[in-house]
Amino acid sequence: MDLAVQRKKLEEILAQKPNTEGLRGEIRQHDSGDMATDIGTRETEVIRLDSFHMILVQARLAKSKLDDGTYAICSSCDGEIPEKRLDAAPWVVLCCKCQERSKWERRPGKTQFIARNDNALERVV
Ligand SMILES: [Zn+2]
Repeated sequence: MDLAVQRKKLEEILAQKPNTEGLRGEIRQHDSGDMATDIGTRETEVIRLDSFHMILVQARLAKSKLDDGTYAICSSCDGEIPEKRLDAAPWVVLCCKCQERSKWERRPGKTQFIARNDNALERVV
């Protein structure tokens, strides 16, 4: 794997600014159909921004792993993350197995990625 290419991909991701355009503007309230449509659109935007935020959090960690030489090593089990997986998603910091057993935990001002390993909870990000 070309780590310089992976670094460039991560830097491009980290340079992106969230597009919050879809959250601006008034919700139309004079017609319940319009209102439902506007609320649905907002919810979709919130989910999209949430996913973007999660990718950014992981991308920052993945970049620090590049710096300390642990890129492509799972942050939870120390197993190897397959090259194919990193090609598709250069920001991933967990192997598939640990990813499946993990969840995001949100606290004000802080996003954490919690991986479950043998019933233990481990904070990854
Ligand atoms: Zn793992």
